Amino acid sequence: MSAPLSLVWLQSGGCGGCTLSLLGADAPDLLATLAAANVDVLWHPSLSEASGAEARTLLADIAGGRRKVDIVCLEGSVINGPAGSGRFHMAAGTGEPMRDLVAAICARAGVVIAVGSCAAFGGITAGGDNHVEATGLSYDGTAPGGLLGPDFRGQGGLPVVNIAGCPIHPGWFTDTLLQYAAGALTREDLDEWERPLAYTAHLVHHGCARNEFYEFKASAETPGDMGCMMENLGCKGTQARADCNIRAWNGSGSCLDGNYACINCTAPGFEEPGHAFAVTPKVGGIPIGLPTDMPKAWFVALASLSKAATPKRLRENATRATPSVLPHDKRRDGK
Ligand code: SF4
Ligand code: SF4
Repeated sequence: MSAPLSLVWLQSGGCGGCTLSLLGADAPDLLATLAAANVDVLWHPSLSEASGAEARTLLADIAGGRRKVDIVCLEGSVINGPAGSGRFHMAAGTGEPMRDLVAAICARAGVVIAVGSCAAFGGITAGGDNHVEATGLSYDGTAPGGLLGPDFRGQGGLPVVNIAGCPIHPGWFTDTLLQYAAGALTREDLDEWERPLAYTAHLVHHGCARNEFYEFKASAETPGDMGCMMENLGCKGTQARADCNIRAWNGSGSCLDGNYACINCTAPGFEEPGHAFAVTPKVGGIPIGLPTDMPKAWFVALASLSKAATPKRLRENATRATPSVLPHDKRRDGK
């Protein structure tokens, strides 16, 4: 077997939720993935025993080129405040901004992976007035830039791989890691935001259990209703790039299955939609955010036709938490 690929995982301006999600990987689990990919974790702040001087020495050796690293992961945004100094997040015990350590280690990497929307684009940490001056690794929101800039390439030639999500689905990371370890991750496998197409080739809408309600524009009105959440409750599943309703989370379910509208957390700028997350902004009664690729006139025409043809079962069940009208076989009772 060839020498293992080495991986180091850094954290900065985030909540640790992507690590927590990754620990829930189940098919395969994280340790099985690392073994299958022949990856040796040099250091992870939550998983490694090394801390204090031992961890600082290891990271300094990587930054200084005295120890090789193949895969560098950053979880959480890059913190540049106050006033561009980076001193809102100091690398513990070093007297140096974490931002500078991240940049030095990324410069040594075979590939850099931004884990989560914070590391990719700035994410929730960059919301509001962004007093901490958070950015992603190669984007500042939708603008190319960030810590490393748009022209950054890992030593293997790839741009920063943005596994965006808030948090990531564990499978998005384990799939990407296995693909990279197999030498099969290329620029063509990434979308226009450098997110792996393995999960962004889909829309969240694909496979949603509420699709039948969507087809007939039978809409939920309050949280917990069974109907489609696009018309009233802010669902962006028809625009959001992810396979959340195809690839189950924690063995089953998705945001939608849990009665939460999709807020498009894999997209840059999702944290500032310009409206309350759980409300659909409309003009003249028509949602502003229409399904990807669908002209407005077509949507309006189809919606009006669908609403006229909505079966009683869907119309009534859409605004209930459990079905009141059930499907039935007319051959049995003639109704
Ligand atoms: S709730 Fe959202 S994802 Fe589900 S069918 Fe409606 S628009 Fe699509
Ligand atoms: S359903 Fe939407 S908000 Fe939920 S994890 Fe998937 S992309 Fe993010």
